[in-house]
Amino acid sequence: MGKLTVGSNPTASATMDASAIELNAMTQALDAARQAASWGDVPVGAVALYGGEVIAVAGNERERRQDPSAHAELLVLRDAAAKLGTWRLNDVTVVVTLEPCTMCAGAMVNARLGRLVYGATDLKAGAVGSRYNVLSDPRLNHEVETLIGVQAEACGALLKDFFATKRS
Ligand code: ZN
Repeated sequence: MGKLTVGSNPTASATMDASAIELNAMTQALDAARQAASWGDVPVGAVALYGGEVIAVAGNERERRQDPSAHAELLVLRDAAAKLGTWRLNDVTVVVTLEPCTMCAGAMVNARLGRLVYGATDLKAGAVGSRYNVLSDPRLNHEVETLIGVQAEACGALLKDFFATKRS
């Protein structure tokens, strides 16, 4: 497991460690990311947890659906809301292989998401600490507890391999 680094904003509540359930969820998210690559999408995968149970799993489907909003995180947020019958996801944790973008982080704030765990950082476009800090911005009406760097190397390696193969 990679080094764990807690989200940079000291005002955000953060837990120091991933639970066994979250680590297991990251393994499932990595599987979903590999599936995304198999149909030509950038390999990002996400899982939604509720009460310790996996209630949604998705890989990135932007290419597959030709839908700019079909990022793995948005797919699991939608699925989780449909299953729970509410858009308020305070008790849901999203586990995702890559740092969310501004769109997905914005959706997490709008969903009042309880907790986010992610793997690799996205220095170019990441909106949870790298480029922006959408989940711990006191100007917004909700902040999301975050844990970053879980299985970061495995998550990042999938992306590197995907782009290396695309270039060759
Ligand atoms: Zn996104």
